[in-house]
Amino acid sequence: MRIARFTVADQIAYGVVDGDTDDMSTLTVNAIDGHPFAPFERTSARFPLSDVRLLPPVLPNKLIGIGKNYADHAREMGGEPPATPIMFLKPSTTVIGPNESVVLPEQSQQVEFEGEIAVVIGRLSREVPSERVSEVVLGYTCANDVTARDLQRSDGQWTRAKGFDTFCPLGPWIETEVDPDSLAVRTEVNGETRQSAPASDMVHSIADLVVFASSVMTLIPGDVILTGTPAGVGPLNDGDRVSVTVAGVGRLDHRVVVAAG
Ligand code: MG
Repeated sequence: MRIARFTVADQIAYGVVDGDTDDMSTLTVNAIDGHPFAPFERTSARFPLSDVRLLPPVLPNKLIGIGKNYADHAREMGGEPPATPIMFLKPSTTVIGPNESVVLPEQSQQVEFEGEIAVVIGRLSREVPSERVSEVVLGYTCANDVTARDLQRSDGQWTRAKGFDTFCPLGPWIETEVDPDSLAVRTEVNGETRQSAPASDMVHSIADLVVFASSVMTLIPGDVILTGTPAGVGPLNDGDRVSVTVAGVGRLDHRVVVAAG
């Protein structure tokens, strides 16, 4: 099931996206009663997807990032993959929805894309054992962990580099019925493929990351874990059109603009 958050006629709702993603014109969104973190009912309201504006599928309390989780990317960054996952936080104010724009801040001369598979937590959870990970995950979506690479290097820690407003495009919806080990991520910039890798290339699996993160901090419904980016990261420039596709989930389109001076 694909769960979206959307706005139509000044109302905001969650809904279920039905139809064939190979033919976007067939897609509709069926509004639900309440929120998707508990059992819900569909309502009688259904809209063509083209008639609504998709919003970020969740408003996370926190976004947990994982660094260097693909060996090829760790090497392109000049190191080896870490034995223990490197964890960082992105502020919730980084999140933007599908078709919105990443704003390049004037403080950085080197903003880069990082296409990633994002895990959406569905339950309040702590110290999740590996056999119960599927119970606490609501589903999966696409993300771009946008990073000011020059500031990441010069600051020595990552809060500013990862934390500018608009630095986490998220969506287009949450797919709740996929096997996380079967997922794959692809990033395109201006129609050219720049990153492509299966989840099976991860150093630490998605399940292991949920176990690891929940051993440190309580996970809250709507929290997002960004599972790391594969090799091929590169710069974003004013006017770029970017998409992050997670096979079996969907495609997240967004744009890049320079900050108004
Ligand atoms: Mg990343």
